[in-house]
Amino acid sequence: MRNPTSQPADQFPPTSEPDSAAVLLVAAGAGRRFGGALPKQFQPLLGQPVLRHSLAAFAAQPRIGPIFLVVHADYFDVAREAAQGFEVRLVQGGDSRQESVRRGLEAMSQENYDTVLIHDGVRPLVSGRLIADVQALSGTGVAALPALRVVDTLKRIDRGGCRTENREDLFRAQTPQGFPFAAILAAHRRFADHAVTDDIALAELAGLTVGMVDGEEDNLKITTPEDLHRAERILLSRLGDVRTGTGFDVHRFDASRDLWLGGVKLPEKPGLAGHSDADVALHAITDAVLGCLADGDIGVHFSPQDPRWRGAASSQFLHDACARVRQRGGVIAHIDLTLIGERPRIGPHRQAIRESIAGIAGLPVDRISVKATTTERLGFTGREEGMAAQATVTVRLPA
Ligand code: MG
Repeated sequence: MRNPTSQPADQFPPTSEPDSAAVLLVAAGAGRRFGGALPKQFQPLLGQPVLRHSLAAFAAQPRIGPIFLVVHADYFDVAREAAQGFEVRLVQGGDSRQESVRRGLEAMSQENYDTVLIHDGVRPLVSGRLIADVQALSGTGVAALPALRVVDTLKRIDRGGCRTENREDLFRAQTPQGFPFAAILAAHRRFADHAVTDDIALAELAGLTVGMVDGEEDNLKITTPEDLHRAERILLSRLGDVRTGTGFDVHRFDASRDLWLGGVKLPEKPGLAGHSDADVALHAITDAVLGCLADGDIGVHFSPQDPRWRGAASSQFLHDACARVRQRGGVIAHIDLTLIGERPRIGPHRQAIRESIAGIAGLPVDRISVKATTTERLGFTGREEGMAAQATVTVRLPA
């Protein structure tokens, strides 16, 4: 990744390599019939936007050129956020999918691409195998269609009653669809008035040769909330390496310091002493996440000797540990935190702490547990010399 930010299409020099394919991700829908605060391509799927899964699938492939992302003007900021860390070029979509694709192709036409792969942003489970097959076939100069044979018996039901249709030779079309760039751009321009629902249909109208590759059942298009649940089940089934990590941390009370717990600055005094903000809760959780990855501990990654972390917000430690999980293709399933001390009283702050941890880890709040206990006035916590925190984290990694 050369540039971690998303930029308008015209601010980049050509980066196409000889046999690489440019990618057009179509995510321009603004409809909210799906339910929720955002269009479905931005809704969370295992903690990350649907679109981000699609993007990651392409970005992980070798020989992929620039990725153009077509989005509705109202959702540029949301799309930038969803694409954070990936190099994408945003293009403003149109009123229909077809118009959005054409606009994307026009934006790409300022540069010289041989091959373009056009993919629905709401097909987040596309595999590297499928992308590679489509890319290889379209690289030979034909339009490449991933498709699945229809296996259910087909019925036509109308006023005339119910009849059985011949399903021979019938296929379900998927994306990504791959094309010689100049040919599909010309087809989109020429047949802009013919309403179609995929790009192969325009290739057909233009008389291009269409070749087929095997589609995938898992490469589903998310159109209903049930599809989102199905996608989640499929993703979880790929994350069979379930790991548990534990973390434990102690900090001494210091009346001159603020009290940070779980990324929340509490009004209570005393605070806790430490090199960073001394957030004992986030330190324990960070160690538990690193424990799941068998990737050292918080001191290895953020040395208390390093002046950079003096007074640092501990949220960045947990943020970094969570990013390590995502880099491994995993997810955090659950965080369970126990705060140990005679004070402060955690109950009044429990929800704020849960929400803060959920925000830092990028998880729904119902996957964050915050508990508290005293030690019955025994030991250093009982004598109110300091606080301890203990965390258990569950992570799922690709099997
Ligand atoms: Mg600590």
